Amino acid sequence: MFNIFSQIAERACQGQAASRDEALTILNSSDDDLIELVAATSRVRRKFFSNLVKINYLVNLKSGLCPEDCGYCSQRLGSDTDVLKYPWLPKADAQRQAEFGLSGGASRVCLVASGRGPSNRDVGKVSDMVTSIKSSNPDVEVCACLGFLKDGQAETLKTAGVDAYNHNLNTAESHYPEICSTHTFADRVDTVTRARNAGMSPCSGLIVGMGETHEQVVEAIESLRAVDSDSIPVNFLIPFDDTPLAGTYELSPHKAMRILCAIRLMCPDRELRIAGGREMHLRSWQPVSLHVANSLFLGDYLTVEGQTAEADLDMIVDGGFQIVGADEPAAALRDRVLAHRNAHRAATSPGPEPQTTPEEQAGDISLPCGKKTSVSAAPGGNLTVPTIRRRGAGTQYEPNA
Ligand code: SF4
Repeated sequence: MFNIFSQIAERACQGQAASRDEALTILNSSDDDLIELVAATSRVRRKFFSNLVKINYLVNLKSGLCPEDCGYCSQRLGSDTDVLKYPWLPKADAQRQAEFGLSGGASRVCLVASGRGPSNRDVGKVSDMVTSIKSSNPDVEVCACLGFLKDGQAETLKTAGVDAYNHNLNTAESHYPEICSTHTFADRVDTVTRARNAGMSPCSGLIVGMGETHEQVVEAIESLRAVDSDSIPVNFLIPFDDTPLAGTYELSPHKAMRILCAIRLMCPDRELRIAGGREMHLRSWQPVSLHVANSLFLGDYLTVEGQTAEADLDMIVDGGFQIVGADEPAAALRDRVLAHRNAHRAATSPGPEPQTTPEEQAGDISLPCGKKTSVSAAPGGNLTVPTIRRRGAGTQYEPNA
């Protein structure tokens, strides 16, 4: 297979995207061929992004309480998932959270709010936050993710200084009715189009592992190309309890890697970002995935915890990468973040334990160190730790940045 992968990659380096059939060949290829696929695909990643990794940082401005019914989402209508629920963060809190991410190496801050879409008043609120964040951090890129946009809202956000707008297509149009009934795929395309037409950079990606076929993965990638997505976050389904997709574990690290390779080869020059669920599904392949993807979210996600920010930075340093926009080597930044974190821990030790719910306490197991954690086993014997976020935005605890 190496020659086939190599030829596809060679053409991608020249800017010619892999075809639908080639992408299916990649998705259907054997685990035994994966290293050859990654080796070929990494040449494309290097060609367009050299040795750079872009760090993005999520600030969850408003959590839970959504009227939509997206089947994968812990914030959906009627979800009993015990995620943090809070209304809009005050501007000062949003700025403070953003600055944690910037000090951890982020060059883009992603301001996210749950819900179907913002009111004009909400857009004004976010515009104020953007002005405030940019006044003290002029080089930062701000991406907003506020749901469906109505007439004039994209233009208002652009005027306020929003650089990019995130609205994921999530899956193939042919699969969309399986995951959501309160809006359509066409609604999603409409908002990405509004953002692009207003001059914001379209950020639109996927959630994989939701029962889609390989053909539907390719269909979804073709749709991302059609909406001209500049940055493509790839989420790997976290099957939250109390959601329709609870118990859905369809991804192996190898399969997750093949999907990333297919996206890279079909969208050679687009930012490809490893996002939510990467820890659970890529597992020990995460560092290798940065030789295909060129971007990640630092630390925690909207409603679940990620691995530590130090572990994210370790992957970058150990892979021989540098950080987009950083004015110091990646290793120096990693060491500074680690020193700060250790100093903070020492100063606050014994620190407050994260809040846990009665249900979590009931499911706790003791670790050898005496601490407690909540662990669930996925089919196939894989350990997964979808820990609900209880730090950072909306809490009194320091974020993971
Ligand atoms: S994905 Fe967004 S729109 Fe859908 S339920 Fe979750 S917060 Fe609401």
